[in-house]
Amino acid sequence: MSKSYAIAVLEGDGIGPEISAEAAKVLGAIESIADVRFDLRYAPFGGQAYFDTGASFPLETQQVCDEADVIIKGPIGLSHEESKKIPPNEQPERGALLPLRKRYSTYANFRPVYLPPELVHFSPLKPEVVGDGIDIMMIRELISGLYFGAKEEGLDAQGLRYVKETLEYDEQEIRDILHVGFTEARNRKKVLHNVHKSNVLLSSVLWNTVSDEVAAEYPDVEVKHVIVDAAATAMVLNPRQFDVMVMENMFGDILTDLAGGLIGSLGLMPSACLGHEKAYYEPSHGSAPDIAGRGIANPYSMIGSVALMLEKSFAMPREAGLVWDALRSVFREGFATPDLAKPELGHKALSTSEFGDKVAAFIVRQGSPETETV
Ligand code: NAD
Repeated sequence: MSKSYAIAVLEGDGIGPEISAEAAKVLGAIESIADVRFDLRYAPFGGQAYFDTGASFPLETQQVCDEADVIIKGPIGLSHEESKKIPPNEQPERGALLPLRKRYSTYANFRPVYLPPELVHFSPLKPEVVGDGIDIMMIRELISGLYFGAKEEGLDAQGLRYVKETLEYDEQEIRDILHVGFTEARNRKKVLHNVHKSNVLLSSVLWNTVSDEVAAEYPDVEVKHVIVDAAATAMVLNPRQFDVMVMENMFGDILTDLAGGLIGSLGLMPSACLGHEKAYYEPSHGSAPDIAGRGIANPYSMIGSVALMLEKSFAMPREAGLVWDALRSVFREGFATPDLAKPELGHKALSTSEFGDKVAAFIVRQGSPETETV
């Protein structure tokens, strides 16, 4: 009997629906080559959900997510001007994204930064810096730290407006994400870069103390400590020195966007957000209101998130591998979405749906039993 999975699909805002459609197309292609069924359950989430229903993470959506095996989520968020039409606590990140992460305790965010040799021309770095490619697994703590700490605002004794936000971690939260980092490093090159700011932040002092304790359980993994600001420079000057990096929430938010720049586009940045019980998958980037509705968004990040889902939630490494191959095959054939296409290199620009069509066609072609036995 074929396996069946219920997947909550939160298309989100801006380019979210466009790139989610390509993810669904790819899931359809997987169904045609494997004995599996995906039951896609769409639900509103984000800024548009607020305008339509009065809540950015409506109760109905919470129920759909609770009942699903896994969640795939497009980016959410509005332009600066549109955001102002929503009360701060219902704005998409505060009203939907952070509550989603908290609800399912998705503490471990995997953000692969991968540029294989044949795609190095997409990087804005000089050839001698990018060498034969970049391959970093960035691991970000996702449900604690400054983004989730207590907040306060008001007027102080002098009548000045003030705001206070709290950066809080307990040792268990730190230990959990460090174990994820060490395990990943053990499975790769056995080197872990621990990103911190212990020269200023007490939270990083505790982070590093716990890191020393956890390191004792992984004697085969070499730990390299790097201060977050220096890490930003080092990633630009010599990204190839990094293999697995682990960091707290806000450092990860910022450094992973920097990483997207290193490989040429945020459109190449998928991610997996794993909890102990449930996982959700989303591109690392935002809703790109500047290009929404034009059919030019790069769906790689969303389709790559589907590949991560097949790998990490459904134990389907063959199908996940096919999706990665399919994504790269499009570039190998000289095509690219406009965020990456360089006419001087002869790239032919593809729309979002043309890119998805090519990925799906590759999967069907390469994944059918006849092809496999050839
Ligand atoms: P962004 O990540 O949406 O866009 C930054 C730049 O990258 C833009 O020029 C955009 O066109 C480009 N870009 C991003 N994804 C792309 C893709 N797939 N293909 C081609 N180009 C792509 O960042 P922003 O403009 O600062 O934020 C827009 C909204 O997204 C804001 O409301 C923000 O709060 C929200 N946001 C949401 C998430 C999330 O849902 N996890 C993450 C980051 C930002």
